[in-house]
Amino acid sequence: MLPQKQLNAKKYIILLGLCVLALLPFLRFIITGSSNMGHCIFCEISAGKQPNTVIDFENEDFVIFKDIKPSSTYHYLAVPKRHVESLKSLTNNDIGLVNSMEQGLKSFFEKNNISTTDALFGFHLPPFITVKHLHMHGIAPRSTMSFVHRMMFKTGSAWFKTVEEARQYLQEKA
Ligand SMILES: [Zn+2]
Ligand SMILES: [Zn+2]
Repeated sequence: MLPQKQLNAKKYIILLGLCVLALLPFLRFIITGSSNMGHCIFCEISAGKQPNTVIDFENEDFVIFKDIKPSSTYHYLAVPKRHVESLKSLTNNDIGLVNSMEQGLKSFFEKNNISTTDALFGFHLPPFITVKHLHMHGIAPRSTMSFVHRMMFKTGSAWFKTVEEARQYLQEKA
């Protein structure tokens, strides 16, 4: 029965290895998350403290600027000036903020003759967020996005919500 026992031990080691691998991204998030405290790139940009970032639009509540890794011809972010980590940290009291960010991105697109119908507006969900400061993506044209980008911004997935889905999510939140 020794070979069988050895086989079992091997199985456990493989299983343990897989568990550690699965947990690595979360560990990384915890470590980088805590070491980044007090330094948030989107807080700096929205406060105008990042000279390398051009602010394309600004009002009392949020700014709009280009995404540094565009997923289509036009890719902008609406970022609130108040530090909020993600959609998950918002409540149904924040639907107004979501609406005004959407309105801001849409009118910015219209002013620049960018189609708002062949466009995608939405949020990533943790832990699938690159910057821990709420940002709404505005991407156009939606129809020419690559397969990889479509997957990254897949509506109704566990990692991305359109503005419409986000509103629904916040409404259902107590
Ligand atoms: Zn911030
Ligand atoms: Zn994102």
